[in-house]
Amino acid sequence: MLAIGLVLLLVILAVWQRHLLLFTPWSNGTPPAFLNTQLELSPGSYWYDDYFLVEPIDSRTFAIGEPRYAQQNYSYLILGDERAILFDAGPGIRDIRPVTATLTDLPITFVPSHFHFDHIGNSVTFERVAVPDLPYLRARAVDNALALTWREHLGSTEGFAAPTLDVDDWLALDSVLELGDRSLRVIYTPGHTEDSISLLDLGSGAVFSGDFLYPGNLYAFMPTSNMGSYLQGAETLLELIEIGTPVYGAHRGPEPVIPRLGVNDMRDLHGALIRIRDKELDGEDTYPVFYPVNDKLDILAEPRVLQSW
Ligand SMILES: [Zn+2]
Repeated sequence: MLAIGLVLLLVILAVWQRHLLLFTPWSNGTPPAFLNTQLELSPGSYWYDDYFLVEPIDSRTFAIGEPRYAQQNYSYLILGDERAILFDAGPGIRDIRPVTATLTDLPITFVPSHFHFDHIGNSVTFERVAVPDLPYLRARAVDNALALTWREHLGSTEGFAAPTLDVDDWLALDSVLELGDRSLRVIYTPGHTEDSISLLDLGSGAVFSGDFLYPGNLYAFMPTSNMGSYLQGAETLLELIEIGTPVYGAHRGPEPVIPRLGVNDMRDLHGALIRIRDKELDGEDTYPVFYPVNDKLDILAEPRVLQSW
């Protein structure tokens, strides 16, 4: 009887701490080796150095890619007349600030799409930092210093210590960032993580979606992922985006271009999430389970028994 109880306890412990058990074996303490990417550059794009790729979207919007980093991150510099937003900063293996300095003299506020180590810049510190005003974050911050937790950051997988952010602005969800002749709405899009936001450009309609949506495998099995929240986030964005407007994600897919999707992909994501919830869509593999969305996207989720809706 005691033995059964003990085994049960161990199983509960393993399920509860599954992310720690899952991610710890990946932790080799160093970032992966740079990729030797031979890229065909799209017109107008250029290498800043041997690491950062600058891809202008228009005269006031720049995608800054890290195609030689294994995760192929993209960050976005969004300019107004008076100030600029840097949406994500990569893992900080190289400092992104000299790149942004060649693109604007405006004061820049760093806004992470979420706190994972490949977006937060780690040891790179910014003049101004703005994060979503979520009650559990605000409650944790001491004098606006927000120490990220392992579950939020996951940097140990590549040897990055979780940083403490000095928060200058707490962004109310659904509030509007005024940049001077350009306005961005802060959209709460949890699902990949509990702290994920997207930005909606109220002028062009473009959406900057972070890890919520990009071409490739969408990770819905992270420590603070939640399938029900993913569905809610997709519903929120579907109400806001219009046909023809681009959705810029934070990781490149197989195509050597800016990770750009659209409203149809958002619809497909939304539809797939509903079908997973209603047990109408079957996945492949055990952990994570691969659910096909369309020819550009898959959702990687936990097995049904661990999914939270
Ligand atoms: Zn992420």
